[in-house]
Amino acid sequence: MFNDKELICIQCAKSFIFRAGEQEFFSTKGLTNTPKRCENCRIFNRLYRAGKSTDVISKVTCEECRTEFVIPFRPLGYKPVYCNTCFRGRKTEEVRVTHFGVSV
Ligand SMILES: [Zn+2]
Ligand SMILES: [Zn+2]
Repeated sequence: MFNDKELICIQCAKSFIFRAGEQEFFSTKGLTNTPKRCENCRIFNRLYRAGKSTDVISKVTCEECRTEFVIPFRPLGYKPVYCNTCFRGRKTEEVRVTHFGVSV
């Protein structure tokens, strides 16, 4: 079983939660190391490396589990957004939140 773990981001020094669902995802991918950066910084770095504007990063709340997370675009507003964990558990086509692979 996995439990939520609190980790410190090496980039912004803020603590973030490495969720049980993500840990499970990591383990199914055979990844044994933990993320070093929070999701916000990971998205920021990805946009930065891609030469994209980083001010499109938006903080949203998952419709299902109410956790806050960040996405590298502006939410459409009228569509519910789901975190990766809840999104993977859904079969519906109505939601089109891009799934971000976890990079360590
Ligand atoms: Zn960070
Ligand atoms: Zn959720």
